[in-house]
Amino acid sequence: MFPERHKIWLRRGAVLLFWFLVWQLAAVMVDNSILLVPPIAAFRSFLSLLGEPTFWRVILTSLGRIGSGFALGFVTAVLLAVLSYRFRFVEELLSPVVGLIKTIPVVSFVVLLLIWWGASVLAVIISFLVVLPGIYLNTLEGLRNVDKKLLEMANVFRIPAGRRFLYIYRPALRPFVLSGLKAALGMCWKAGVAAEVIGTPDYSIGERLYLSKIYLATGDVFAWTAVIILLSIGFEKLLLWLVRCFFIWTLSMPVEVKAGLAEKTKEHTNYVSGGSGTITCERVTKKYGDRIVHSDVTLCYEQGSVNYLRNPSGSGKTTLLRLIGGLEHPDEGTVTCDGRVSMMFQEDRLCEEYSAVCNVALVTGNVPGARKALERVLEPEALYQPCGSLSGGMKRRVALVRAMEADADIVLLDEPFTGMDADTRRRAETYIEERRQGRTLVIATHIGFEKENI
Ligand code: ADP
Ligand code: MG
Repeated sequence: MFPERHKIWLRRGAVLLFWFLVWQLAAVMVDNSILLVPPIAAFRSFLSLLGEPTFWRVILTSLGRIGSGFALGFVTAVLLAVLSYRFRFVEELLSPVVGLIKTIPVVSFVVLLLIWWGASVLAVIISFLVVLPGIYLNTLEGLRNVDKKLLEMANVFRIPAGRRFLYIYRPALRPFVLSGLKAALGMCWKAGVAAEVIGTPDYSIGERLYLSKIYLATGDVFAWTAVIILLSIGFEKLLLWLVRCFFIWTLSMPVEVKAGLAEKTKEHTNYVSGGSGTITCERVTKKYGDRIVHSDVTLCYEQGSVNYLRNPSGSGKTTLLRLIGGLEHPDEGTVTCDGRVSMMFQEDRLCEEYSAVCNVALVTGNVPGARKALERVLEPEALYQPCGSLSGGMKRRVALVRAMEADADIVLLDEPFTGMDADTRRRAETYIEERRQGRTLVIATHIGFEKENI
């Protein structure tokens, strides 16, 4: 008879009605409005509260105190988490303090703070202290959770700090900060009001709750409790909405605005880094523990040459590319590269939440150029989908375009054709050939290259 959604609301309404009836019945049985007011009387008290001249002042004062404590706690926690992430000694220094704040009961703080500062700033400091440890620990964990491989990719492509934060750190931080925030919001509000009840500062919800108790105005206690609940829900919803907006705002924007690159309309990246592109390794030895991967290797890749590493899997191709790219250091010998290096890693290392165009533009700073380059190897409908939803072969092509379009004199391609069928591989090879523009290329592949003469 009713649609499914209406049924759910009806059920919820019935549950609420049931509990109101239980309350009413209990009030009738107790028959003492000081101990338990009936629901109608509580509702009447609530309405008369709304009409009081000082009601909004009380609300705003409490909101101001608890809200500012929360904001201060949140900002401090995030700053401290960044410092702890950056400098290990800061984390060690803070660890006992954060542990203490977490374990000391709120009421002990309240008593101490009352002695030190008095009631007026009590709720501010209590909300601050309640928020601080949770947000700090969650943010720190979120920062630690950032994919190290993506950070290495950002270093190779010299992605500026702002873009790094938006596209690499922010997605990794989102679940941690949101869950920390949810827990902190509820606690901060409850602890803040409790602190007000104990400190009873002028014009505060806590003071009004306390006075209601003194005057045995149980109806007012119920009414103020309802106000606290409503404010708590509103406060939580508003803040979570604001923070969610921060975490998703670029996802709904056009890609040009997303990457902050609208002003650049060049069709192609010009390679301006200016090195010759020559690579030399002299008597290079590289070990991992006891395993000697390269021993006394000497080689020279000339300016503008195309070089293949076609040894079997496990023979050290990736290691050699990483040595050339400066991501590993030789145990003996020297590796020199004259010019900037761009790299297609053995893994795709894409920012999975963002589109192919965005991933390439993130590195090149040039949206139209990124789109044009991608159109040559990728199906048009895949250009604006989040990379996480693309197939393995498609992701590989995005990573290939990113490496080829980056401003560099040397391009290192590690297994560029993994996951591609014969046709897409040919397209990718043609693309490499045409976009090489005389730069030095090193290609590690255990699959034969069809166009041997790129
Ligand atoms: P390929 O790319 O030719 O398959 P790799 O360069 O990836 O070969 O690896 C060569 C050898 O070095 C392998 O035996 C691998 O286990 C080892 N190796 C590579 N990277 C590391 C590392 N970070 N730590 C320890 N061993 C490694
Ligand atoms: Mg490899």
